[in-house]
Order: sequence, then structure tokens, then C-alpha cells
Amino acid sequence: MSLFSAVEMAPRDPILGLNEQFNADTNPAKVNLGVGVYYDDKGKLPLLQCVQIAEKAMMEAPKPRGYLPMDGVAAYDAAVKTLVFGADSEPVKSGRVATAQGIGGTGGLKIGADFLKKLSPNAKVLISDPSWENHRALFAQAGFTVESYPYYDAAKRGVNFDGMLAALNTAAEGTIVVLHACCHNPTGYDITSTQWDQVIAAVKARKLTAFLDMAYQGFGHGIVEDGAVIGKFVAAGLNFFVSTSFSKSFSLYGERVGALSVLCESKEEAERVLSQMKVVIRTNYSNPQIHGATVVANVLNNPELRALWEKELAEMRVRIKAMRQKLVDGLKAAGVKEDMSFITTQIGMFSYSGLSKDQMVRLRNEFGVYGTDTGRMCVAALNSQNINHVCASIAKVL
Ligand code: PMP
Repeated sequence: MSLFSAVEMAPRDPILGLNEQFNADTNPAKVNLGVGVYYDDKGKLPLLQCVQIAEKAMMEAPKPRGYLPMDGVAAYDAAVKTLVFGADSEPVKSGRVATAQGIGGTGGLKIGADFLKKLSPNAKVLISDPSWENHRALFAQAGFTVESYPYYDAAKRGVNFDGMLAALNTAAEGTIVVLHACCHNPTGYDITSTQWDQVIAAVKARKLTAFLDMAYQGFGHGIVEDGAVIGKFVAAGLNFFVSTSFSKSFSLYGERVGALSVLCESKEEAERVLSQMKVVIRTNYSNPQIHGATVVANVLNNPELRALWEKELAEMRVRIKAMRQKLVDGLKAAGVKEDMSFITTQIGMFSYSGLSKDQMVRLRNEFGVYGTDTGRMCVAALNSQNINHVCASIAKVL
């Protein structure tokens, strides 16, 4: 009898399971739209020029690798604050933002979740229905009861905003609300600027704690445009959490570069909050890694590299948008009668296609086109070689 005899096999991660199935598929025309990764038009994972230049400079002036402080690379944390809140913004100038480097955006969320559990042990967490699969698991693992607020409206092909607002307006005081700052994953539907104002009013009136997950800044309308929601929360005088991920925007997935920023009332309060974030970090993994965060800091803090990054990020954004249009046009050309133009009103890396589970299974088994059972497809993995096959295949299952 082993210590582990009764250990059950954990359910397979749906996306990773899909990847395994994709890798084993011998169909030469197979296309993987299940992943949340941006590929270029040649189907390759980009290594950004700005990253290569920064890494070359780092290799030419090698540095020893001592432990970082618990909150990470100081120049990186400063760059994150500037990016998220704006260099000349009042919160940055007054020093009331507490920022710590995290292990990817997931790490930022986890630091926030553990800190919040100590701060508000009895609060409930609300996430969107549907949401990034890990939101529920991550907050549940931190000890919270996780429920959802309505978000996707399949019939409308958009957001059930009335439902969302009603849920926020009836949430108990202190409820933690996880909001996708831009490029909602998985649906691709964001709320409008006016709707954000209503969400903020509800957060304020009900004394909710907003946790903005910013995993795709720059993939929607632009770096500034996508970040504008942060300015709205600041202007409303709220204290809130923002997790940042550079996995997509720097194509640095495997370097695990992210952060958590908490907007506090004062500099002195931010110091106390940061000290508690450091306790969470210390007891989880002591301190983060040097390489990825240094690359990002060196790019963001150097005007030329920063301009290059903005150009490269814009190229990714524009290419995704072009693929959305090609998908709509291609589906029409392939004989789809249904109006598929909703695909171009969605934003970011994903499209909720509206296809049923059965249709997604057929796409996979008969045509080698892989998306999730929920109908989510990664439009950032479409390219000029695979688009026709994808359009023809969808047309056949619709
Ligand atoms: N939040 C959302 C909404 C995401 O889509 C992702 C990544 N797919 C993350 C957080 C996590 O980011 P990271 O990979 O940097 O941990």
C-alpha cells in the first residue's frame, strides 16, 4: 500500500489535452486554433526584434545572478507602473501604487488572491461567465468561494451587459470582482467605455473590490486605448488590483513575466500593502527570476526599443484584425449564408465562433481544425496558408 494509492488522476487540462490530440493527428492540413498564443503569418512563434536587441546588449555586458528582492527587478516594477497607470499620472507621481513582479500574469493574480484572502477572508469572488479557465481554479485554490456574473449572450452574439450589471449591483459589500481589462478571454467581446462607467459606478456604490486582469494590453485597440479603463478606475477614486502579463505583448510566454499592482490611498499605505505582497511572495517562491523582467524593463525604459516594441506589437494587432476580416470574407466565399461579421466586432486573440460542441468535434475529427469544445478559436493562429482550409472546413460543419 503506497502513500499515493488513493491519489486520483486529476482531470486533464482541456487545452493541453487538445494539444496532445493535435500533435498526434496525422492530417497534413491540421490547424491548431485551440491555443492562446500569437503566431506570425508563417505560423511561427515570434521572437521580437526589441527583445533580441535587449538580450544581445545584456549578453555583451553579463551580470552576476544574485537573488532579486522579493518584489523583483526595481526598474521593471517602475516600468510596469508607468505602463499601467501612465508616467505622469497622479498615482505614479504620488507613489501610491504597490507593484511587485510576478511569475507571469498568473503569478500576479496569485499574489493578489493570497493577499486578498488574508485581507478579506470571507469575501466571495465573482468571475465572468465564461472566463479564462484558470480564474476560478486560482481563486478557489486561494480559499475563496468563486461564483460568476453573466457575461456572454450567445443569442445576441455579445455581452449580456444588463445581467452583468444586475449581478454587480446585488453583490454583497466587499465582493471581489475579476474583470478582463481588455480582449476578453474566451469570448472576444469587450464592454464599451460607457458600460465601463456603469461597472465602475456599481463597484463604487456596492463597495466591491475590483481586480482587473490585463493580459492583452496592446492587442485590442492600442496600448493607451486598452489601458484607458485603468484611468477610469483611478478617476473614480477607487482602490483596486491590476495584474499584468507580458506573455503575449512581448511574446515571452516561457519567461513568465508579469506583475501585480495595487492602487492604494497613499504612499504610506502602498508601502504597507507591498510589505504584505512580499510576505505572500516569500512564502510561495521567495523571489522571482531575473531574465525576462530585465528584458522587458530594458525595452520599456529605452525610448528606441520602446518605439520598436510598440511597432512590433502594432503589427501583431493589425495582423489579427486582418485575419478576422479574412475569416469573415472567406466564410462567405465558402458559401456560409449566416452573417459572420460578428467576428470582426470581437477583439483580441480569440473568437467565440458560436459553433456547438458537436460542430467543434467534427471540425477536429474530419478536418483537423482544432478549437475548444466551447467554440473558442484563436484567430491569432490563423495565417495566409491555413485560412482557406479553416473557412472551407467551418462552412462544411455549419
Ligand atoms: N489572464 C488571462 C485572461 C489570460 O488569458 C492569461 C493567459 N492566457 C493569463 C491571465 C495568464 O497569463 P500568463 O501566461 O502570463 O501567466
